[in-house]
Amino acid sequence: MSTKHVYFFGGKTADGDGKQKELLGGKGANLAEMCKIGIPVPPGFTITTEVCAAYYDQGKKIPEAAIPQIDEALKKVEATFGKKFGDTADPLLVSVRSGAALSMPGMMNTILNLGLTDASVEGLAKKTGNPRFAYDSYRRLIDMFGSTAMGCEHEAFEHEIHSLKEQKKVKLDTDLSADDLKELVKRYKAVYKKHVGDDFPQDPKKQLMLAINAVFNSWNGNKAIEYRRIERITGLKGTAVNVQAMVFGNMGDTSGTGVAFTRDPNTGENLFYGDYLINAQGEDVVAGIRTPEPISKLQDEMPKVYGQLMDIRQALEKHYAEMQDIEFTVQDGTLYMLQTRSGKRTGTAAVRIAVEMVKEKLIDETTAVKRVAPDSLNHLLQPQLDPKSKIKPVAQGIAASPGGASGKVILSAEAAVEYAEKHPGEPILLVRKETSPEDVAGMHLAKGILTSTGGKASHAAVVARGWGKPCVVGCEAVKIDEKNQQITIAGQVVKALDFLTINGTTGDVMIGKVETIAPSMTGDFSALMQWADKGRKLKVRTNADTPADAAKAREFGAEGIGLCRTEHMFFGEDRIAAVREMILSTTEEGRKKALARIEPFQKADFVGIFEAMDGYPVTIRLLDPPLHEFLPQKDNRAGAEVVAKQLGVTVEKIFERVDELHEFNPMMGFRGCRLPIVFPEIGDMQVRAIVEAAIEVKKKGKSVLPEIMIPLIGTVEELVLLKKRAIAVAEECMKKAGVKVEYQVGTMIELPRAALTADKIAEEAEFFSFGTNDLTQMTFGFSRDDIKGFLPTYLKEKILPVDPFQSIDVSGVGQLIEMGVQKGRAARTAKHGQHLKVGICGEHGGDPDSVVFCHKVGMDYVSCSPFRVPIARLAAAQAALGETKRDK
Ligand code: PEP
Ligand code: MG
Repeated sequence: MSTKHVYFFGGKTADGDGKQKELLGGKGANLAEMCKIGIPVPPGFTITTEVCAAYYDQGKKIPEAAIPQIDEALKKVEATFGKKFGDTADPLLVSVRSGAALSMPGMMNTILNLGLTDASVEGLAKKTGNPRFAYDSYRRLIDMFGSTAMGCEHEAFEHEIHSLKEQKKVKLDTDLSADDLKELVKRYKAVYKKHVGDDFPQDPKKQLMLAINAVFNSWNGNKAIEYRRIERITGLKGTAVNVQAMVFGNMGDTSGTGVAFTRDPNTGENLFYGDYLINAQGEDVVAGIRTPEPISKLQDEMPKVYGQLMDIRQALEKHYAEMQDIEFTVQDGTLYMLQTRSGKRTGTAAVRIAVEMVKEKLIDETTAVKRVAPDSLNHLLQPQLDPKSKIKPVAQGIAASPGGASGKVILSAEAAVEYAEKHPGEPILLVRKETSPEDVAGMHLAKGILTSTGGKASHAAVVARGWGKPCVVGCEAVKIDEKNQQITIAGQVVKALDFLTINGTTGDVMIGKVETIAPSMTGDFSALMQWADKGRKLKVRTNADTPADAAKAREFGAEGIGLCRTEHMFFGEDRIAAVREMILSTTEEGRKKALARIEPFQKADFVGIFEAMDGYPVTIRLLDPPLHEFLPQKDNRAGAEVVAKQLGVTVEKIFERVDELHEFNPMMGFRGCRLPIVFPEIGDMQVRAIVEAAIEVKKKGKSVLPEIMIPLIGTVEELVLLKKRAIAVAEECMKKAGVKVEYQVGTMIELPRAALTADKIAEEAEFFSFGTNDLTQMTFGFSRDDIKGFLPTYLKEKILPVDPFQSIDVSGVGQLIEMGVQKGRAARTAKHGQHLKVGICGEHGGDPDSVVFCHKVGMDYVSCSPFRVPIARLAAAQAALGETKRDK
């Protein structure tokens, strides 16, 4: 049998069906499906995506075998619709539209009213008794056909209609009479001839074939290529072409057209949501030339049609078991459906629709869990900028932590602390070139953070995300002038304490104040989460450094702490002085004295965290960052003076130590496990604080599971040394207290060498936690703070598919992880007969694609910021449930 190139649909039958999206495109497949379930659709046919591929294979020629099939399908359309293509008395007119397997909006213009000629336009005028309508349709065809299929400038046509309106002294297109439009057709034809060098074709079949060519050509137009690149759409054969009998919504007051969603796409509420216009064609609703009416009003204007639409709405939802986005036209009281597809929606709507559809028995719980895109939950978790705000963005940076924030511009963390003390409750927006651990107090007080440099894994981004605080980074348009206490954004000056707004979901920056709306944790949200939990295998922990964060994460369902970064506990105002004293002292004795002052704070923090975690495991990492980060830097003399005074030393002494500690490459310098190896008293103090805190909590009758984690191990010998010391300290504490607590000592896998020698390391480590921020940095040799300069080009040139600090680089870094898990597990079982617990605590732990990867390599848990816990829970469930279908 010869290949089928053309698929007819119409009446209540169709050659294809809704499952054939790859072959018929989304639009074609759904038109066929609608016919099959008895929904009124104007008849038509779909030329397959395979024909598009063949068109290109044959040097832009429609394959011969397709042509008779097109003729045959056209005949069927004529028979079904009761009109003939090219008939001069009562012509069948068709629309010609593209439609790939995945939606590519705006890829090419549609050609409507195809089949009109000088002769048939007269027939149409007579038949409808409406010459104005007939000539308006004809002039639209010449414009659309000319500009889409033949490369004429649309502007040239626009110029003609403008000059005619001027000449006739009218304002609106609709003010032009039938005779005016007749004249306009003449002028349009002249434009066409001038540009194309030929007359506008009077043979409808010729028009049709040229229009089909045009759709195929548009598949490889610049616009479409660029769209596929941005959306990372690959592997499609081409576009299908849909040729369909025209129905007219602009034939008077008993006609109209509209677009609607079967449920509210913003809130998810189960109500019919959309707009329509009486006496208008499809593009008028979207073009905004006239203001459409809300769909509910159609009930008064066309009750019969409205009733039919409500039935169709129900039938479509029942059939597709999904919220639909539909287009319809009413021609002289008769309703036709022109399109249905699953409707785009906000995260809030996605959750509500999924949960309500389960209650309505349209879908089961598993389908609901699979259907919601994990990242879309962000919408439910963050305060939102009021979408009704009229304030427009002036610049865009990298969307680093979602949500909206408006606040008064403050240019340093110290100034933020000072301002907050004097003006409690006033919203602050911290604007910095970049942030460092020194800034956390000020960052914490800010409603949002904006930096002019840095990427998604920069300090500002990581910290803000951890707190669920809106953040935009790498916004180069922001120029900071601290001296004059102002910033310039895209040429506009914003003074300190003026209002500025950021949208961490989109990266937009706006001058002025935009109101925010508080997030609401609805019952639907928790219902969906409970269903997700039934399906998942991965545990979800959180990265938290304070009892408050730990408690928040528990609310979101965290099952433990996967990373408590103890250095964040060193920055509190009440402890930083002691930390600085410790760093400034050059003797062990001096350091011990300072550490003794820090120890009670650490212990109290750990008690708070253990209590908040209520018996769930808590992984506490020993100090990691380079020491100089705790000292005021040399360009901050004022800060140094404050510290000098506090510690009773000279500013010079502080700067001397800053110099001593200076490193050319601190990320690869004196940090991680290297610190307690050289200064064992630091590690000892931390282990003591952890174990004593655990003992205290246990004494209160609560269960506690501390996991002591040693960072940045490269060789097993580092771990052997530190583990021995940690055990000695822990045992001593327990002996002293006469209480035993269960604890584990494990390590982070953050260096390629650690992954490569995972078998050796696992013989010593009771658990592994993959620190994929550093592992990515060290594997690629990309500094996590300095990727911004080249990342956009790397993405554009497809050197990288995504930011590797955001989503795990599966083929490189992923290979190291997989190998680390396998070698580590095998060695631990062989030597100790134990299961090696493996997790991830890098930023990737909250990225849905990376969570799927972690599931595949058999990790026990992922750990992420408190606000990403629900996202990770959903992603973990989807990974366990297999292939996902995510409709946004
Ligand atoms: C990591 O490197 O992935 C990690 C969690 O540690 P940090 O981000 O603190 O370096
Ligand atoms: Mg790290």
